[in-house]
Amino acid sequence: MKACYPGTFDPITYGHLDIIERASRMFDEVAVLIMVNPRKQCLFTEEERVQMIYQGLQEMNCGKNITVLVGNGLTVDYAKKINAGVIIRGIRAVSDYEYELQQATANMLLDEDIETLFFVARPQYSFLSSSVVKEIALNGGDISKLLPKGIKESVEAKMKQQ
Ligand code: ADP
Repeated sequence: MKACYPGTFDPITYGHLDIIERASRMFDEVAVLIMVNPRKQCLFTEEERVQMIYQGLQEMNCGKNITVLVGNGLTVDYAKKINAGVIIRGIRAVSDYEYELQQATANMLLDEDIETLFFVARPQYSFLSSSVVKEIALNGGDISKLLPKGIKESVEAKMKQQ
């Protein structure tokens, strides 16, 4: 069975990579979907995010059954288009759950053949988000424990350009 893991990944962190790795052991194929949201201002372009995700997967030695795609529109439509029967999302805290439950229920109304599956964040990553990474990096803090080395360098280089 094929699953997809939609998100913004701006940038990908160890929290996301952990979910991808766990999902890749459970499903035949996992498609990481960078969903384009015109209302969200991102630090990295879609192409940069694709590259960073592949770099992260390589540094983490993740399975070969993972692909990275860029999608737009409704997640359920994109999932159907690529033949994924499951949408994976991560839950870090109760605050995530409220939003995720709303999204998952809306997606169920849109397409009842696609299931949403939640992965609980590993405790060491339960505080971790792309926004936290950007905030720390912007203020010159150490982000080396939050994402793989190559991605850390990309984030720091991008911050210098800002
Ligand atoms: P979105 O803008 O769609 O929320 P994100 O890239 O922020 O995209 O997150 C994608 C998914 O990964 C979401 O379900 C989010 O809850 C989950 N996620 C983000 N960070 C972590 C983490 N540290 N551990 C587990 N799940 C996470």
